[in-house]
Amino acid sequence: MQLIDLSFSVEQNSSEPMPIKVKTRPHSGGSKFGRKVIFLGKKKLSDKLKALANYVSGKERITKNSFPNGEFINEQTVSLSVHTGTHLDSPSHFGTKCEGREPKTIDEIPLEWCYGNGVVLTFCNKKSGEEITQEDIKNELKRIGYQIKKNDIVLIRTDTDKKWGKPNYFFEAPGFSRGATKYLVESGVKIIGTDCYSLDKPFMAMVNEYYKTNNQECLWPAHFYGREKEYCHIERLCNLDKISVNYGFKVCCFPIKLKGLGAAWIRAVAIIE
Ligand SMILES: [Zn+2]
Repeated sequence: MQLIDLSFSVEQNSSEPMPIKVKTRPHSGGSKFGRKVIFLGKKKLSDKLKALANYVSGKERITKNSFPNGEFINEQTVSLSVHTGTHLDSPSHFGTKCEGREPKTIDEIPLEWCYGNGVVLTFCNKKSGEEITQEDIKNELKRIGYQIKKNDIVLIRTDTDKKWGKPNYFFEAPGFSRGATKYLVESGVKIIGTDCYSLDKPFMAMVNEYYKTNNQECLWPAHFYGREKEYCHIERLCNLDKISVNYGFKVCCFPIKLKGLGAAWIRAVAIIE
């Protein structure tokens, strides 16, 4: 069995315009063990916590020297967007209604959608700002000799992930048309994944088209299609080129269970038996 990691590391680089903040309390923080370390930031402690804080730190009975090698355990507090790194967008990200009903938030996505048969469709010849259309999908399916089945997890390979770490990752990529999205979702697909920053075209490409045409349909057509028919998409996948088959493998992409939110980080993995 071969396991292929399809997720980027969550890290600050020039491909991610949104900030990631990490606050680390190092192992050496042990010297300030007690109220200062554990309860720092909790301005209003409950009586029970106050008693506990006083118990462990009141007389400095536990100090750095109480720990092996003088090191305590470390801790990190992270502040970042739910759309940072490799993540899954739920219908509630797309709008306030999906198929006329309340849309599913990320914690409500059925686990059955997130583990299933994978299919890779390759569009490496597409230029930046170019559209991947319904016709392109049909042609690619014909080329690889495959018919989409219900709950297939369809991975769109453009090799844009090779630009990861550089600013052009954000600016240069093809994007899905409404028709391409509709075709896959109507074929029974619940999760479409892309190795680009977004399933839609890059931000500037959409905005420029909108300025030229004043046509609403130029803006986030794949995202907004998710208001009409329920589906999710994965953004910022990597290593799709390492999957040696077009189909006949499994994909696993469970999202972190963030209550009531629109998206969450995933560790996406392709499994080839
Ligand atoms: Zn997203």
